[in-house]
Amino acid sequence: MRHDPLPPPDFAVAACRLTIDVGACVANWRAIAARSKGATGAAVKADAYGLGAEIIAPALARAGCRDFFVATIEEGASLRRLVPDARIFSVSGLWAGQEALAISRRIIPVAASPEQLELIAGLGGALEHAVFIDTGMNRLGLTAEQAAAYAQSGGKPVMVMSHLACADEPDHALNARQNESFQPLAALFAEAESSLSSSAGILLGPDYHYDLTRPGIALYGGMTLGGFAPRPVATAEARVIQIRHAKAGETVSYGARERLSRDSRIAIIGAGYADGWHRAASGAGVPLRNAGAAGGAISLAGHTAPILGRITMDLTMVDVTDIPEHLVRDGDYAEFFGPNLPIEDVARAAGTISYELLTSLGKRYVRRIV
Ligand SMILES: *Cc1c(COP(=O)(O)O)cnc(C)c1O
Repeated sequence: MRHDPLPPPDFAVAACRLTIDVGACVANWRAIAARSKGATGAAVKADAYGLGAEIIAPALARAGCRDFFVATIEEGASLRRLVPDARIFSVSGLWAGQEALAISRRIIPVAASPEQLELIAGLGGALEHAVFIDTGMNRLGLTAEQAAAYAQSGGKPVMVMSHLACADEPDHALNARQNESFQPLAALFAEAESSLSSSAGILLGPDYHYDLTRPGIALYGGMTLGGFAPRPVATAEARVIQIRHAKAGETVSYGARERLSRDSRIAIIGAGYADGWHRAASGAGVPLRNAGAAGGAISLAGHTAPILGRITMDLTMVDVTDIPEHLVRDGDYAEFFGPNLPIEDVARAAGTISYELLTSLGKRYVRRIV
């Protein structure tokens, strides 16, 4: 049997929809670039934090961004056609077997181990590379001794990088310690550029900027810090499918753990944890979340409506009893996060961070780029 091709998705009537304000993303990049002492790159790994590298990377390149960071060689290879002239760094390095792809797409692997450095040395200069040095996070990177040995052996990376563990806590003592450790390590490679800071590190001040900064989340509107409030970039919405009336004493959702204390109007929203509305933001009945937290909310008709009971895969119940009845109707769109509901607040209610919300939005959204 033949089927006609699917018509293009219609944002105006979509069950779940995502608006991506590319102009706001570019404005955030410019605002950060204005605060950076040296050059400003952009982290566009994980499909630009779930928002679409296809649109965002070329827009940033047009704004003047010359350096892009992805996690893997594969991500870098698909980014190449979008930003033909930029430098692309793959921060999780290079595996044997990926050399030809990396060379043909001019991806700069960021080597974090002597084994990776050896693999790159074996290519006889066919590929530029960078080095990642661990300065106290105990995540990825060469030790200080390995970095010194590599410098001694004549290694010539184009960039020396490290990553801060606590940049989002400006008073944490580890920030200054990592910065002090990084300075002599960067100086080992006199001809290389140096890079230490992602979004939060940039806001720690110029001592942390070095030659190139690597903002990610601040570009996508997910970090307010140090007097910098980025413009919101993503708005996630889903429709009110049904409005029901329930009596005091009745319960809501799986597990019957939310017991209504008053007669209530409940809006059933057509999105759930498969759409990134993390189950941990449920109004009640999720034992894993910190017992003190009250659960999340959505924004509807200019009001905030608390989530009732457990969020389910495709559906979320919210309390609209306090919103005037004529303002909430079937088919209205409820905002999960966006201009009316800061993504950081939504993330906090779910016991997570904006990064995880953005990168777990799921496949059901019809997207609109503005
Ligand atoms: C993801 C990432 C960044 C960007 O971090 P944000 O906190 O999103 O600004 C920078 N550098 C490295 C190595 C990363 O992996």
